[in-house]
Amino acid sequence: MSYISVLGIFVADISFSGNKIPNIGETILGDSYNIGPGGKGCNQAIAISRLGGKVNFISKLGKDDYGKLAVNKLKIDNIDTSNIIISDKHQTGVAGILVDKNTGKNAINVIVGAPSTLRTDEIDLNIIKNSKIFLTQLEIPKKTTLDCLKFAKDHGVTTILNPAPASTLSKEFFNYIDYFTPNETEAEFYSGIKINNEKDAKVASAKLLKLGIKKVIITLGEKGLFYSDGIDEIYLKANLVNAIDTTGAGDAFNGGFAFSLFQEKKIKECLELANKVAGLSTTKLGAGDGMPFYKDLS
Ligand code: ADP
Repeated sequence: MSYISVLGIFVADISFSGNKIPNIGETILGDSYNIGPGGKGCNQAIAISRLGGKVNFISKLGKDDYGKLAVNKLKIDNIDTSNIIISDKHQTGVAGILVDKNTGKNAINVIVGAPSTLRTDEIDLNIIKNSKIFLTQLEIPKKTTLDCLKFAKDHGVTTILNPAPASTLSKEFFNYIDYFTPNETEAEFYSGIKINNEKDAKVASAKLLKLGIKKVIITLGEKGLFYSDGIDEIYLKANLVNAIDTTGAGDAFNGGFAFSLFQEKKIKECLELANKVAGLSTTKLGAGDGMPFYKDLS
């Protein structure tokens, strides 16, 4: 049975909400806290699964309480966890998030932990070979990411690289990417073009396509998205929503896009669905916890 494989990290997002973000040396009494799933790979896998996609999450966790929490959370979301490596030498990733409840602004410290040591030889590559779509980001070691992208392409699997966080890539990377999905800031990093509008996105996409990438989708936050494969170009406005937390919007977009592509929908339909899923994700709190379900789309 075919499925989508997602390679990436899980971190336990521990958010503290209060009247302010404390200054150095200051202690405050906050209002509430939440522990939820985070990490781009994990969020994208949750987005796919909640839409009804069959997804296999490839990652590495520590043998600790947060590792157990991760597996439980992923299982609740029907994500195949059989290729999650559990290490007794490393800790599960954790992010400490301090949120100012009045402005929604935050300060974050991420400890990636176990997946920062994930090597290609630890991964069962059959998982990638047997999938129709392979989706990954840049939060695990680059060599592992490149090996897996190359392996996927060599076996006829469609690849999506969400190039986040922005990071210098060797030229080789670009040979193995079908869809490249930066946000505005990342697109500027990779293309050198500052993006303020659709026209800038068009110029940046043309530069990115010259690198050897086949198709580019630049997400433009509340302005929507721009797609180009060098021949066809599509610009979609974002859906009008009451956005309360945009954390994980890009992850929702990538998950929604991979899900639609898996269903062999036309590119415009894939982009429309991803745009909708991402918009909806901003109306809920949390990264992984904020991903919408298929029923929420209607
Ligand atoms: P990232 O979360 O990676 O920074 P973006 O901010 O570009 O990514 O957002 C990804 C997608 O999420 C956008 O292309 C759009 O579809 C949706 N989105 C983001 N912010 C909003 C918003 N305020 N209203 C509606 N949709 C949004």
